Amino acid sequence: MIVKRIGGKVKPMAGVFAVLKAFADGFATTFRHLFRKPITEQYPEYKRSLPERSRARIILTRHPDGGERCVACYLCSAVCPVSCISMQSAEREDGRRYATWFRINFGRCIYCGLCEEACPTSAIQLTPDFEMCKADILSLVYEKDDLLVDHGGKDREYNFYQYAGVVTNAGDKGAHIREEKPVNIKSNLP
Ligand code: SF4
Ligand code: SF4
Repeated sequence: MIVKRIGGKVKPMAGVFAVLKAFADGFATTFRHLFRKPITEQYPEYKRSLPERSRARIILTRHPDGGERCVACYLCSAVCPVSCISMQSAEREDGRRYATWFRINFGRCIYCGLCEEACPTSAIQLTPDFEMCKADILSLVYEKDDLLVDHGGKDREYNFYQYAGVVTNAGDKGAHIREEKPVNIKSNLP
């Protein structure tokens, strides 16, 4: 039985009226839409441009100097809730890391964007390109060559090594191009 309590008193009819009003509001909304001009977009002939931050196909971007941004730190792989990223790390002669292979299984990816959030080098980025459905699920496994692009994506000027102050065979912290010497925090002590 539908009842409503108003001022401490039980009012059975008030509950019934509330339900009827909810039904009436719902039907009124439907009725109003009957006379509206429908908005139909003829996809794929017409493609609406999506916001830059839309989350779809993932790319691996490059530094402004053309080098690969990914340092194979495994953070994206660790944070991925469906474990669809895998890679193998290696070290270049100058001591900088890179991924010998890098694989994303888009058949499992839920496009949550956590990998992009976790990436310290801005290497892995999601793009608005959502047109990647395939009948063969195995073709949704993308290798490094499929993921690597020749630009920096959303942040084209960012260069991880120039800001992170990493020690490599090429130099100590602050010795790399456009890199400043690290601050000696103990020098601030009284
Ligand atoms: S978008 Fe989410 S599910 Fe897809 S690879 Fe990145 S972390 Fe994994
Ligand atoms: S894409 Fe980013 S988070 Fe993933 S391994 Fe490479 S540098 Fe690390």
